[in-house]
Amino acid sequence: MSLSDAELERYARQIVLPKFGGVGQQKLKAASIAVIGAGGIGSGAVPALAAAGIGKLTIIDDDVVDRSNLQRQPIFRDDQVGGEKAMLAARFAMALNPHVEAVARERRIDAGNASELLEGHDLVLDGSDNFATRLAVSDACVGLGIPLVSAAAVQLQGQVGLFRGAPCYRCFVGDAFDSEDCDNCAELGVLGALPLTVGSFAALMAIRAIAGMGEDSGKLHLLDADQLSWRAIPLPADPGCRACGVPPQSG
Ligand SMILES: [Zn+2]
Repeated sequence: MSLSDAELERYARQIVLPKFGGVGQQKLKAASIAVIGAGGIGSGAVPALAAAGIGKLTIIDDDVVDRSNLQRQPIFRDDQVGGEKAMLAARFAMALNPHVEAVARERRIDAGNASELLEGHDLVLDGSDNFATRLAVSDACVGLGIPLVSAAAVQLQGQVGLFRGAPCYRCFVGDAFDSEDCDNCAELGVLGALPLTVGSFAALMAIRAIAGMGEDSGKLHLLDADQLSWRAIPLPADPGCRACGVPPQSG
């Protein structure tokens, strides 16, 4: 996939990187990423992915902009309160970079439609705000063989991980949270810059994965915005995981 003169100029500062180069830029241009949730994490991830030159973005969100979102979702403006987030985020991406094709899917993703919505993408970046959605997305990604960057932020804590098959997000969380929405920002609060930082970090992981810059899976990156520190913990695969584990022998 060749790059035009305008693209070579736009992406010059990353094409010059020895570990990235023109080959890395062409991989980004050829890539299709689904971003789930145009919230705080999406507000960090979408500008970073669009600016870097990801060729196709699908933005999945069924919500509208609320005034209380603007404290952490700066891709939306005060005069867009009440507007559809997926559509506004897709427009934001294409206004930022006309070489990006961004599509809005104004749907709530769940276990019933996740595979259909995510099929055909090269990577999924999940910034949704509840465990049930994140688990449904993870199960679909394991089934479809799509790498998943799963990101979350609440109160003063953020977490980001890249999952490729096993271990999967369900190995880490377990099965207890499928029906619970237990990390809701509306109840617990979140400091504005935190999800943006986590969303940008998730975009960095996605770009590294697409460009083939190194293997980052199998670790969970934790940001503590209270102590202001990052740390990475290894994630063991759960052999009994019902998404990525070995299915029990029947008979
Ligand atoms: Zn698993």
